[in-house]
Amino acid sequence: MSAAIEVRDLRFRYGEGTEALRGVSFSIAEGECVGLIGPNGAGKSTLLLHLNGLLPESLKGESSVFVDGTPVTADTLHEVRRKVGLLFQDANDQLFCPTVFEDVAFGPQQLGLSEAAIRERVTQALARAGIPGFEARAPHHLSVGEKRRVCLAGVLACEPSILVLDEPSSSLDPRGRRELKELLRQIPITKLIATHDLELVVELCSRVIVLDEGSVVAQGPTVELLSDEDLMLRHNLEKPHALRHLHPH
Ligand code: ADP
Repeated sequence: MSAAIEVRDLRFRYGEGTEALRGVSFSIAEGECVGLIGPNGAGKSTLLLHLNGLLPESLKGESSVFVDGTPVTADTLHEVRRKVGLLFQDANDQLFCPTVFEDVAFGPQQLGLSEAAIRERVTQALARAGIPGFEARAPHHLSVGEKRRVCLAGVLACEPSILVLDEPSSSLDPRGRRELKELLRQIPITKLIATHDLELVVELCSRVIVLDEGSVVAQGPTVELLSDEDLMLRHNLEKPHALRHLHPH
C-alpha cells in the first residue's frame, strides 16, 4: 500500500532567495498523526504548501511529493486537493464570505454537489468543528478561535483523507487550545501538524519530524525526540513541560 504522504528529496528555492527546502525526505502512513516542528524559517510552511501543490514552480518537471502514491503535478492537482485538506495559519486568508455557511459551503460547491448534499456537509462539518448552528454568523465578527474552527469546518466539509495543519493552536488561549486538541483527536484521518506547540505534539502525535534550515534533522517517536534536551536546544526548541521528568539516555 502507498504511504498517505511521501516526500523524496524535495528541494525548493523562492526566486533568487535562499533555499527553503534542501532535500527533504519522509513518509507518513495512512492514519498516522505526525508533528512537524522546527524554529521559525525552518521551511515548515513551504513544505506544507507543497502537499497541496500551491507553489506553481514545483509543479513543473518530476515531482518529489506523492499523495496516496500519486505524484503532485499540474495534471493531478484536482485529485490531490480533494484528498489533502490544508488549514492555513491565518484564518483571514481562508475566510472571505459574509456568512459562515457560505464560507464552509465554498469547498463542497467546487466539488459539484447538490444543494441538499452541500447543506448536509456544512451542518456536519460545523458540528465536527465544535461550532454547530453557526451558519448565519458573520465570520469577521467571530473570535480568533471561532474563525479557526470555521476554517477547519470548511476543510472538513470537503471530506479530505489527509489533514494538514499550519500552526492550528497559535493565538488561542489555554481553553481554546485544549478544545482544539480534543477536536483534532476526534478526527480519525491522517494528520500532519506543523506547530510550535510541543504540548499539542506530545498529546496528539505519535511521531515527529524536526526540520531546521530546510533539512530534516531528526524524526522518530515523539516522546523519545522531545525528551532529548540536546536535540531540542540545538534546534531552538524547548522540551515540553509534560516531559520534564524524562531523561532519554
Ligand atoms: P517556517 O514555516 O518553518 O517558519 P517558512 O517555510 O515560512 O518557514 O520559510 C522558510 C524560508 O523561506 C525562510 O528563509 C523564509 O524567509 C523563506 N520564505 C518563506 N516564504 C517566502 C516567500 N514568499 N518569498 C521568499 N522567501 C520566502
